[in-house]
Amino acid sequence: MAILVLGGAGYIGSHTVDRLVDRGVDVVVVDSLVTGHRAAVNSKAKFYQGDIADQPFMRDVFKENPAIDAVIHFAAFSLVAESMKKPLKYFDNNTSGMIKLLEVMNEVGVKKIVFSSTAATYGIPEQVPIKESDPQQPINPYGESKLMMEKIMRWSDQAYGIKFIALRYFNVAGAKPDGSIGEDHNPETHLLPIVLQVAAGTREKLQIFGDDYDTPDGTNVRDYVHPFDLADAHILAVDYLRQGHDSTAFNLGSSTGFSNMEILKAAREVTGKPIPAELAPRRPGDPDTLIAASDKARKVLGWKPQFDDIHKIIETAWKWHATHPNGYQDR
Ligand code: UDP
Repeated sequence: MAILVLGGAGYIGSHTVDRLVDRGVDVVVVDSLVTGHRAAVNSKAKFYQGDIADQPFMRDVFKENPAIDAVIHFAAFSLVAESMKKPLKYFDNNTSGMIKLLEVMNEVGVKKIVFSSTAATYGIPEQVPIKESDPQQPINPYGESKLMMEKIMRWSDQAYGIKFIALRYFNVAGAKPDGSIGEDHNPETHLLPIVLQVAAGTREKLQIFGDDYDTPDGTNVRDYVHPFDLADAHILAVDYLRQGHDSTAFNLGSSTGFSNMEILKAAREVTGKPIPAELAPRRPGDPDTLIAASDKARKVLGWKPQFDDIHKIIETAWKWHATHPNGYQDR
């Protein structure tokens, strides 16, 4: 049996490929390299460059690799602010991409898929921690495109028997502990990599977007989870489907919240650098607090995140950023 990883050259995809290869799993990777990095893909995985919406290409990938029985799908755009400006880009790549993929999967008879969903499908939560059964009312096209993917999956399961697990990630941060792969987006918009770029000297200062939120110190509170722990959840989710269980969704988070100021303070402690920061206006579309109730994944999948300490998560990310201040260009 082999697993096809779509978007396996991206941040979370590359960590999952690494983890799978480490466990001796046969891995086939497809990535368009529009945002991913070829150097991030473990050399033991078989790599194809191409777009998941290119059906003749995808048919060939399945044909050349008949051992594939399950797909892990990370190949999507994921920037909230960009999605507000270019919603059609998100619906086209994320939502239409999923439709094209499912058509081919149905044709070739591969009927298991684990895919990246997001906390952004919940919108402004009515309560925290957020449960999987809470209302999903996204407030940006990115979250909407992912919610549409979840809905398309439900009907595809009903009609074609394609079983799915939607994994709704909260905030992902950290890198492989040996510092050999990590987070490299261009442009970078996420809090921790920006903080660490300032620490590494490739960026002048951090801007904190708003300090008048309804939280203890006024800055947004987020729930951070390490990509290795996410990778393990994907592997458990594939096993769960292989055991014949039904489609469902899981939140993936640490169930602990850290404010943006707390992240800055922890990063100063870990790096020993001053990390200059200034207050800036709120960024549109940021809910006050996002914290996952993740007991369902722990109970049902047996998920046991190892990185439960924000300092440890930041240490792994710092090892990557300090040794690769220009990301994969430095490899
Ligand atoms: N943030 C910030 N400055 C930055 C980038 C992000 O203050 O340069 C804040 C952002 O407003 C949010 C938190 O950091 O409150 C996490 O944002 P990020 O983009 O990392 O993840 P998101 O929560 O959007 O998935």
